[in-house]
Amino acid sequence: MAYLLVVEDEPAIADLIAMNLKLVGHETLLIGDGNEVMNAVLNRTPDLIILDVMLPNKDGFALMQEISPLGIPVIFLTAKSQLDDKIAGLRAGADDYMVKPFAIIELVTRVETVLKRYREYSNIFRLDGLEVRMDEHKVLLDGEEVELTVKEFALLEILIANQNLALSREKLLALVWGADFLGETRTIDVHIQKLRKKLCLEKRIRTVYKVGYRLEVTP
Ligand code: CA
Repeated sequence: MAYLLVVEDEPAIADLIAMNLKLVGHETLLIGDGNEVMNAVLNRTPDLIILDVMLPNKDGFALMQEISPLGIPVIFLTAKSQLDDKIAGLRAGADDYMVKPFAIIELVTRVETVLKRYREYSNIFRLDGLEVRMDEHKVLLDGEEVELTVKEFALLEILIANQNLALSREKLLALVWGADFLGETRTIDVHIQKLRKKLCLEKRIRTVYKVGYRLEVTP
């Protein structure tokens, strides 16, 4: 079972997709407005996002830029008249795309393929004595479970999804707390300190001067 976000503003297509995914045992949330996507993603991380390109308020490409640092797989839906979009979609980091109109069974098959591919390498993250089980929201250090708050776990997930890359405090704040959060970037510093301490990541979570932080996983 997986939890999927179906972002599609045409109700007939969205319903058809949701119904068929449900038939094969998945849970779905339908969203028809581009502006509502990131909140839903941050509220509960989906295993996969089916993302229509043409959406009210914010299109699929703009959304893809916000989604891609989170490491969530995406299948793009494009209309036949948007052939250039397919190329742009894949460049933007989508895992696959489907051209409308498509056979629903083909979409379901591709969903399974992408989910399987992701599960094989993204389920469990290991570094030194640390083991992060993404699906279970569980963190172990030298075999002992460590309790993290929701925000600490979300921050850790984002650092892992972007391992070896520098992330600005502003970006981390937007990804973990949401774009409309009015807090200060110091919030990030406080949470980073806690993660470092709880998980013995002092040498792994590096401060990037004048930028933010980077999770270093190279030996
Ligand atoms: Ca549309």
